[in-house]
Amino acid sequence: MKRMEIITKNSRETQKLAATLARRLVLKRATRVACLGRRAVGKPKAVILALRGDLGAGKTTFIQGFARGLGIREKILSPTFVILKIFKITKRKTKSEKRKIKIQNLKYLYHIDCYRVDNPKEILELGFKEIIANPENIVVIEWAERIRKILPKNAIWMKFEWIDKDKRRITIKN
Ligand code: ADP
Ligand code: MG
Repeated sequence: MKRMEIITKNSRETQKLAATLARRLVLKRATRVACLGRRAVGKPKAVILALRGDLGAGKTTFIQGFARGLGIREKILSPTFVILKIFKITKRKTKSEKRKIKIQNLKYLYHIDCYRVDNPKEILELGFKEIIANPENIVVIEWAERIRKILPKNAIWMKFEWIDKDKRRITIKN
């Protein structure tokens, strides 16, 4: 298991980090498929990012940058009553650092916010098992600790911590 800690000095830095991570994940997936072939990759699964941290720690801000990195232009909000929102990943090319990469094999970004979820069953009832079984999905979950029980081992855990008004510590466990 790898552990990485980053301190961002403002929300833009958090969004840039997220966009870079999104493109790395896309590239990693494309490389695996190219090298091993679809069948050799093992049981296909969605990419899952499990985000935790208090209100205002920067989870939604991170997802905004992450979506941007996938070429999604819609604004990602933190709606109070919406638990699940789906964004289509278009076939557009997205800039990766200096070069452009093409997003293949990934179709949807799921934004799940468990802030108001008391029981993981509520998420299962939304078809969660099917969502995370589909390798064409990227699933980003806020307040993921509330549904820890139903998250698979391949989830990438990210912890967001408030340091001061504009500084956040982001820890990634993969
Ligand atoms: P959460 O989804 O974890 O509740 P939000 O992303 O909605 O948090 O809110 C984070 C707030 O903190 C935003 O108003 C954002 O502009 C602000 N902020 C200040 N500095 C940072 C930073 N370094 N990273 C992320 N957000 C930051
Ligand atoms: Mg939020």
